[in-house]
Formats: sequence, C-alpha cells, structure tokens
Amino acid sequence: MFDKVLIANRGEIALRIHRACREMGIQTVAVHSTADSDAMHVRLADESVCIGPPPARDSYLNIPAILAAATIAGADAIHPGYGFLSENARFAEAVEAHGFTFIGPTPEHIRMMGDKIIAKQTAAALGLPLVPGSPGPVETRDEVVALGERFGWPVLVKAVAGGGGRGMKVVSDAAAAAEAFSLARAEAKAAFGNDSVYVEKYLARPRHIEIQVLGDGKGAGIHLGERDCSLQRRHQKVLEEAPSPALNAEQRQRIGELAAAAVRKLKYRGAGTLEFLFQDGEFYFIEMNTRLQVEHPITEAVTGIDLVREQIRIANGAPLGMTQDDIVIQGHAIECRINAEHPETFVPCPGRVVDYHPPGGLGVRVDSGLYTGYVMPPYYDSMVAKLIVNGGTRNECLMRLRRSLEEFVIGGIDTTIPLHLRIVGEQSFIDGEYDIHWLEKLVGLKR
Ligand code: ADP
Repeated sequence: MFDKVLIANRGEIALRIHRACREMGIQTVAVHSTADSDAMHVRLADESVCIGPPPARDSYLNIPAILAAATIAGADAIHPGYGFLSENARFAEAVEAHGFTFIGPTPEHIRMMGDKIIAKQTAAALGLPLVPGSPGPVETRDEVVALGERFGWPVLVKAVAGGGGRGMKVVSDAAAAAEAFSLARAEAKAAFGNDSVYVEKYLARPRHIEIQVLGDGKGAGIHLGERDCSLQRRHQKVLEEAPSPALNAEQRQRIGELAAAAVRKLKYRGAGTLEFLFQDGEFYFIEMNTRLQVEHPITEAVTGIDLVREQIRIANGAPLGMTQDDIVIQGHAIECRINAEHPETFVPCPGRVVDYHPPGGLGVRVDSGLYTGYVMPPYYDSMVAKLIVNGGTRNECLMRLRRSLEEFVIGGIDTTIPLHLRIVGEQSFIDGEYDIHWLEKLVGLKR
C-alpha cells in the first residue's frame, strides 16, 4: 500500500480523502494556496506545501507546482478529488510520467469521457440508450434549426467540453436559435477554451438519475445503485437522494446492470458515475464523470462502502473488494449541499464564520472544513458543507433531515440552510414527486 498520498484539492473533499487515508494508515500531504493557510485540510494533514497565490489557475490548477510538492514531500500517489484537475487527462499523464500513481482512471478514459460527443458515441457502442441529438459538433445556426425541426422544439445546445452546466442553452424555437447558439459557444469558449457545441433534444420533465460504478481496470466492474440528483438550480445539483423515489425495482436493476456492463467492457479503473435522464420509464445517457462525485456520501450511507478507500485500493492494484452480490442497498440517504450564499438571491457570501455548530446524532454526517473563526476566502466554490443523513426509510430520513437542518448553526455568513428547510417542507418533495425543473419553479428563477 502507498505510504504517502498528496491530496490535490481543498475544502471538504480534501478532508474526506485525508480521513480515508488516515484510516488506511497512509500519511497525507495537503497542498494549499496562500489564501488557504488556515484551512482545515491543511491543519489536519501530516504535511502541507504552499503551491501558489489565491487564484486557482496559479495554485490548485498549477500542475508543475503540484508535481514539485509531491516530489519534495516524497508522495507515492496523488488524489485529485473533484473539480480542479480531477478530469484533466494531461494532469493524469503528468502524474504518471513523474512516477506517481494517479488515484483515478487512465488518461485515455478521462479524455474519452471529457469530450461529450466521443462519450456519447462510446456509450452508444456500449449499448446505453442516448438522448436523441446531433451525431457530432454543430457548426451553424441552420444546423440547430434543422435539428430542432427534426426532434421537435425545444432543443438544448451543449458544450462538447461541458461541465457544471456551463455553455448550455435551451432553444425554444427557430427564431431563438441564432442567439442561443452564439451565447453557448461564447460561454463554452470562456469556460473551457473550446467553443465546440452539440445539440440534444430538450426533455420536458426528466429526472437526473446517476449510477455509481467501480472498476478494477482489468474487466471487473460493479454498480452501487443510483442517486437521484433532480433537485438543481442552473443545472447544478442542490440536494441528492439515494435510492431514487421514482424508480421501481425492475428499472433500478436494468439501469444498474447496463452501467456495470459498460464499466466491464471499457475495463474502466476506479470510481465513476454514469449520468442519465429518466422520463416516462426510459433512461437516456448524458455523460460519464471519471472521478469521485460531490454526492458520493449518500451511496456510502446506503451501501456501507467507503468509496475513497476503494479508489485508493484499486489505484494500488488491488482487485475490487466486493462482488455485485455483496452490494445491498439499505435504507435511504439524502445530502444537502450547503453554500455560503443568500438563500433567496444566491449571492455568494464569503467572510468570517463567527459561530459553528454542526448537527449530530444517529445517521447524521457533516463533511465540511468550517470551524468557528474560519475566514472563508472569496476565490473558490461557495459550497462550505455537506449534510448527509440516513434512515431506515425515506420518511425517517426526511424527519432526521429536518431536525438536523434546524440544529445546524453557521453564524456570520449567509448560507442556503433556509432553502433546504423550505425544500423539506414542500409536499411534492415529501412525496418524492419532482423533476429537474421543480426547484427552479420553487425559487422562481428565470433561466
Ligand atoms: P454538465 O456536464 O455541464 O453538468 P450535463 O450533461 O451533466 O452537463 O447536464 C446537466 C444537467 O442539465 C442535467 O442534470 C439536466 O438537468 C440538464 N440537461 C442536460 N441535458 C438535458 C436534456 N437533453 N434535456 C433536458 N435537460 C438536460
């Protein structure tokens, strides 16, 4: 097993990885920008290395600085977390070229799934159902119009290099095609340095259902059930639950088996997630994320499996620690992403945390780098905590979630805790009846 792992990330996910390493007897090296010297991930790690100034491009995205830190610290392996360099094939290659182990999939698989058109072509070849869409990139407004007429309006223009909902525009009719097309391209260029876009039929009221998978890189692969991530704002997830209240046993088994078969055929290595839209009983593949997801803890809560530990074991060359038959989904889990944002306007609110009291008790987990006196820097993502609760039934889970949200104190900064309290009080959420548009209707957001 590795002696020392460098964690190329910050915030709650750096802590999450540190905890798994600690329990496996592995030393950890934190990296941080000058804005994060007092961060919890730096305090808890065995060693830490400052890798640059606050802007992420100079620190958490600075590949030479991270590799230098790994060399100085004598790390064996690098865990990228999520975001930042986690889906950067060049980084994975550089890590391996410098003699470290990359805790993640091969650069080839990262590259394949990072290009959404190649990802969809691969998914089709693996037998996964797709959203109807353009077979390749779309170069002109006229092509968008032709596709809209073929699939029926509205259609969605999406960035080939997409992520985080950026470079995505709904086109309601032919008249709107020119503007949406150029806006999507400009946004994609700004976000990813690549203005290539493609078109998909815009499904009217789907749910977002994703399957957690693990592969050993040699042809073994299993799934760990689904997560329902339909509660979104601006195509970004806000609250997730497992299992999905919308699937029956047959649908659950069908999509899980399809995803696991795809992992085996790909000889995929490590943890990954296949994302689908689900509408009228049908699944439609949209993308595969070749990394750990923010919402992985709800899968851990219902399966009892430590996904980061599995990632590390697989990266070290071990076979999967379990077979499909060992995976038993028990009870129900929900995660709330708590952002330092105003709960109604969503304006980010970094600053000093003057009071911090996380909830506790049976079935409650809080993943967060917050502490009383922590000054949250303004440079990074606004998510400051994840509240994960689980219970024997969905109803028990909901009661526990409400209780935990009421108990949670984060003083000094605005947070989205009141938004989550509002969601858990809504009858259609309690009934499990919501699609990807439900939350935006609740908070009255125009796209
Ligand atoms: P990103 O990589 O930017 O997150 P995804 O392809 O994963 O983009 O899509 C993000 C979200 O956008 C989905 O969860 C869903 O809410 C919405 N979405 C994506 N494709 C479609 C589609 N064809 N029809 C309707 N909604 C979609």
